[in-house]
Amino acid sequence: MPVAPRDAGRSGRVTLVGAGPGDPGLLTVAGREAIETADVVVADRLAPWEALAWAPPHAEVVDVSKIPFGRSTSQDEINRILVERARAGHHVVRLKGGDSYVFGRGFEEVQACAAAGVPTTVIPGVTSSVAAPELAGVPVTHRGLVQGFTVVSGHVPPGHPDSTVDYAALARSGTTLVVLMGVRTLPAIAEALVEGGLDGATPCALVADASLPSQRSLRTTLAKAASESAAAGIGAPAVAVIGHVAALEP
Ligand code: SAH
Repeated sequence: MPVAPRDAGRSGRVTLVGAGPGDPGLLTVAGREAIETADVVVADRLAPWEALAWAPPHAEVVDVSKIPFGRSTSQDEINRILVERARAGHHVVRLKGGDSYVFGRGFEEVQACAAAGVPTTVIPGVTSSVAAPELAGVPVTHRGLVQGFTVVSGHVPPGHPDSTVDYAALARSGTTLVVLMGVRTLPAIAEALVEGGLDGATPCALVADASLPSQRSLRTTLAKAASESAAAGIGAPAVAVIGHVAALEP
């Protein structure tokens, strides 16, 4: 749909909205208000599409999950779209899954806008790193049991040249471990943690499609997580929670 012409004098801006794990009910009130005043909504794959119905009828929707090319090329293209639409005087809402700054490249977009002189606002979102465990009945901390949680990306496996995560240190951290983007690499991650000294019998929960009608979860152990998750059909997007909290019951 074409974008309606805006006042010549009005200056454009970009609002990054963390859209939560998928259920539109988990998008913040501030996020909804931003969408309601958007001229353009730039959304990605993990953003709740129902939330687009809150945009004004004239708003243009750009589905950036459909942009082809490699990872960095498409990010450049997204940055270009944000800057170009804002420079045309529009209020551009960038709708991202979870929280924009948790493995969401949100800050890269803020930097690109800043470099182009485009003002930005960030509205925090409910991150799947906490919400997915929670929706499967697992608290990431629990008094008397664990005093912290560590969130890591499993996008690159342990030992990969691009991996900067010290899995042996994680194994000794005494915190709940939450792994995002780790479905594919779960066997290697579990192995690295056990090698680092974490007991293979440590409880582990896996949660896929958290907050969506298709949500499914599994409680297992670190040693069995990879094989059991495959058997249970746990696929991306999914979160793994490793630690004693994963065995708690209400
Ligand atoms: N910014 C997002 C994370 C983006 S990385 C956030 O804060 O939640 C994408 C990863 O997030 C997925 O691979 C998966 O590990 C996790 N994820 C996102 N939505 C999810 C959901 N509804 N259920 C389970 N995991 C989810």
